[in-house]
Amino acid sequence: MNQKLQEYARLLVEVGINIQKGQRLIIACPVDHAPFARLCASIAYEKGCKEVIMNWSDDELTRKKYLMADDSVFDSVPEWLVRFYTDYSKEKAGFLHLVSTDPENLLGVDADRILRSHKSQGEALKEYREIRNKNINPWSIGALASEKWAKLVFPKLEPEKAVEALWEKIFMAVRVKGDGTAIEAWRAHSKKLRGRMKILNDYNFKSLHYKNGLGTDLIVELAHDHVWEAGGDTTADGQFYMPNMPTEEIFTANKRDGINGVVYASMPLCRDGNVIEGLRFEIKDGKIVKATADKGEGILKNAISVDEGASYFGEVALVPFDSPISNSKTLFYSTLYDENASCHFAFGRAYPTTVKGGIGMSKEQLKEAGLNDSITHVDFMVGTSDLSIVGLTHDGREVPVFVEGNFAF
Ligand code: ZN
Ligand code: ZN
Repeated sequence: MNQKLQEYARLLVEVGINIQKGQRLIIACPVDHAPFARLCASIAYEKGCKEVIMNWSDDELTRKKYLMADDSVFDSVPEWLVRFYTDYSKEKAGFLHLVSTDPENLLGVDADRILRSHKSQGEALKEYREIRNKNINPWSIGALASEKWAKLVFPKLEPEKAVEALWEKIFMAVRVKGDGTAIEAWRAHSKKLRGRMKILNDYNFKSLHYKNGLGTDLIVELAHDHVWEAGGDTTADGQFYMPNMPTEEIFTANKRDGINGVVYASMPLCRDGNVIEGLRFEIKDGKIVKATADKGEGILKNAISVDEGASYFGEVALVPFDSPISNSKTLFYSTLYDENASCHFAFGRAYPTTVKGGIGMSKEQLKEAGLNDSITHVDFMVGTSDLSIVGLTHDGREVPVFVEGNFAF
């Protein structure tokens, strides 16, 4: 176990962030996982990191705040917090996010407080988001097994066994065996993803038609100058990093107003400490005109109404149904894991990197390029074993992209 944790920490710092000599590293981490954060910090310092700055969090205190704090605190963000993010991002620090949030931590909390908190943060951190859009900060997200999370994933196991089982799933998904081969394995995996990415970029599809037995029947027009991305990203200064660990997706940007039809989620969506089940969207000219869910419909409706762009899509991602995470037949209740088990879309903000020349573009230029903007970005899963996706090229050819849930090429 210690060997694997060590290897995982090394993977996150050396491949996820690819920390450079003289660079600061900001680590966001739940207090319960301080030992793992220390492992990451040691490895970063060994690599010449200038300083490790900790950004601690605690699920219990977050919940208490939503339940008991003064009502006014959800409408503003203190200046020092804004400076924390903007100052460190301006100096090109790396951001490592270690997450183990209990997906149901905010169950029963006043949804209005959550919505207002998102809105005020979205407003206050505008400059920070603009800096991040310039892609000058390497960043990465990795998950850590906690008892609450593990019990949700393995409800039949004793708490200790559940945590162990969840760690094993995490190690499998991030290709950590404890024998020092993880970094090599990741380089090979990234290469494979990037091969498929190239095929998709060469086709330069005009649109994709999604269909499956759940009832999804959706035409998704892609942004005109869209670029498919996968298996890592490069900062403006040429630092190669891996934003998500694990990552199995190949993703791009849809045209903001180019989606029409009906889409059903194939897995529950965890949002704001709540689980949304049976999600269904009806979409007309890009806008979600009807949103329903069997469970958590109120949370869903709030999520798509934080601003104008929240009711439009910003990401189209392809993941084979036979990915390692999908094959583990486990529902993780974690976007980081579940999104890599399944084809998904996101409502909200598009990534500027998913359109040609997007990094240097202003907000207006990105909009002109067809990309959606919002303070939010929420992934939801749509992949199934019978999903078919047919691509339409600009010269009118129809090309199978997904057959029976997996890539046709
Ligand atoms: Zn994605
Ligand atoms: Zn996403």
